[in-house]
Amino acid sequence: MAIDIYERIQASLDEKRQNVTEFLETATETEKDICLGADEHCIDTHLHVIETSIEKIEDETLGFCVVCHGYVDSSHLEMDYTASVCLDHYSDEERRRLEAELELSQIVQRALLPQRMPNIEGVELAAFSRPSEIIGGDYFDFFKFRDGTHGLVIADVSGHGVSAGMLMSSLQTALRTMAPDTDSPAEILERINRFYIHNINFTTFVTVFLARFDPTSRTLTYVNSGHNPPAVFRKDDNEVNWLTRTAPAIGLAEIYHPKTETITFSDGDALLLYTDGVTEAFNIGMEQFGQERLAELLLQNIDLRASDILQAVLQGVSVFGNHQSLADDVTMIAMKISG
Ligand SMILES: [Zn+2]
Repeated sequence: MAIDIYERIQASLDEKRQNVTEFLETATETEKDICLGADEHCIDTHLHVIETSIEKIEDETLGFCVVCHGYVDSSHLEMDYTASVCLDHYSDEERRRLEAELELSQIVQRALLPQRMPNIEGVELAAFSRPSEIIGGDYFDFFKFRDGTHGLVIADVSGHGVSAGMLMSSLQTALRTMAPDTDSPAEILERINRFYIHNINFTTFVTVFLARFDPTSRTLTYVNSGHNPPAVFRKDDNEVNWLTRTAPAIGLAEIYHPKTETITFSDGDALLLYTDGVTEAFNIGMEQFGQERLAELLLQNIDLRASDILQAVLQGVSVFGNHQSLADDVTMIAMKISG
């Protein structure tokens, strides 16, 4: 099994373990009761699966096939780190069904992403999304709030593959259903968290940056629910600031009170939203791309059109990673304020 795949899976498992352990250590008994309900052992079971998988990485038996005693295909393992049977051992009929479902999921998921940018007065918008596998867990969207202001969202479902893709689709449905009835990003996320906490049982969580943009006042009201901090370019200071987290990721805790922040843009300012596939891209020295390099790229290319800024960032990440294919899904939105 290729070392980098093991390292990626290990990093993701370490993160999962940390989230679960933190919850077990910090949540009150009441919170645990509410979160876990009748199935109080599910979190221990889940933690056990994570820990066993980490041990298997250490002794290099993760993905070991119980049928042929080889390793399952790496892309299969990345979709499901508990996989222990090669896809080859399925019958032709079973495989055909699996492949057909994957293809269908891919078509559905592509169709769900916005096909064109909304028209927002005084703003230039561009977006880019590329899944690392057939089906990704990244999501971005544009919609309108009740008062007609513009909604923008970028999100990242932990994990990859069909289950992440399905969660992404349900997130979109939830957002688009709720937004026309409210002007509050926090209210939407509180409701989505309530819905998810009982459905994803700590196996998955979702980081979301959800914002409302009012083109008249040029204010952006947002909740950053555990997502990578978006970069704000301030023309007056010629520097980049970060919109840091104001709430935990969705699906981690029942007690969820997101904080709402507001910023106001001036002429020539810009906003860059991205998923961790950008900042957590590795180079051959296993160094991460990181926020500082992203800020530098943004400063160097800030005079370009929004879509060209995204291309410049992609190019920068690709050069950094020595043009190897991207390990994670990559999604970005760039927004430039006229002036
Ligand atoms: Zn096998």
